[in-house]
Amino acid sequence: MIISMRKHATKEEIEHVCERICELGFKVHSIQGEERVVIGAVGIGDVTPCLEMVDAMPGVESAVRISAPYKFVSREFRAGRTRIRVDGAEVGGDEFIVMAGPCSVESEKQIMDTAEAVAAAGAKVLRGGAFKPRTSPYEFQGLELEGLKLLAKAREATGLSIVTEVLSERDVDRVAAYANIMQVGARNMQNYALLKALGKCPRPVLLKRGMSSTIQELLMAAEYLVAHGNPNIMLCERGIRTFETATRNTCDITAVAVLNELTHLPVILDPSHATGKRSLVPPLARAAVAIGADGLLIEVHPSPEKAFSDGAQSLTFELFRAMMQNLKPYLQLWKDSRVAATAPV
Ligand code: PEP
Ligand code: MN
Repeated sequence: MIISMRKHATKEEIEHVCERICELGFKVHSIQGEERVVIGAVGIGDVTPCLEMVDAMPGVESAVRISAPYKFVSREFRAGRTRIRVDGAEVGGDEFIVMAGPCSVESEKQIMDTAEAVAAAGAKVLRGGAFKPRTSPYEFQGLELEGLKLLAKAREATGLSIVTEVLSERDVDRVAAYANIMQVGARNMQNYALLKALGKCPRPVLLKRGMSSTIQELLMAAEYLVAHGNPNIMLCERGIRTFETATRNTCDITAVAVLNELTHLPVILDPSHATGKRSLVPPLARAAVAIGADGLLIEVHPSPEKAFSDGAQSLTFELFRAMMQNLKPYLQLWKDSRVAATAPV
């Protein structure tokens, strides 16, 4: 159940509502929105008596039952979309955000050159893994702290924000000291210890869909982050495992539209991991714009043939520039429809 308090509800009215909910055996999570306080009541058992009682209390604007197992990330919880400030940019707002960079940070020259190239082409966020989740223990595992420092240097030089993966709850503080956005990789989507630790982290999180996870499981993972205190979550579709072998994963493009119906959180598409193949990245990026994603996560490398990881799906600087150029007319349509959808009626 979600209770929206009136705009000018007093502190006492809010406390009173919380007390009544607790007395009836439900747990309270309250969130101070920009305009009003919203209270979530979660627990087991029939919520009807609680709902009827709270609905009539002073200061309450509305109380609604949410039947989905995820509450705070559900559409019913918030009328508008969640907009997440990342330095100068806003994810989930009126601008389509492109995050781009190498799969792994490999050297100072590699990350600095890539940062300059993607910034010049219009990216707002630089991606790059310093802690790499590799299928084989014999493959490159990332530069770790050195990689984080190089990312910070690239941010300083270009003004781009940084998104980078955090592999373990042990590393949350270390990564948060350098990153603007904390990436949770597909292999860690259900690492609940990590999700709980990131709930307490002051940085936004980019949560990737597990390769065998349903949309509901993705939303439940996001619910963990929000319930533990972090409302700034971006969801990322990066392809799922199917019987198909022509692509590295199967992009569930419909997931973007489904998520836009079910949640107020921004949705990012990663066409690089979804396809595993450079030539398929630009057409899938166009599809992401058309279907209403909030942004893209794209792998770009100065010499993909020499990349330590994911070279086959990485765009060259030239291909990235061309992709960004070709996206322009689609982005104009995206902007028009986004502005129309959020305009007051
Ligand atoms: C990545 O973004 O480099 C990555 C490892 O992605 P995923 O977790 O989606 O496999
Ligand atoms: Mn990669």
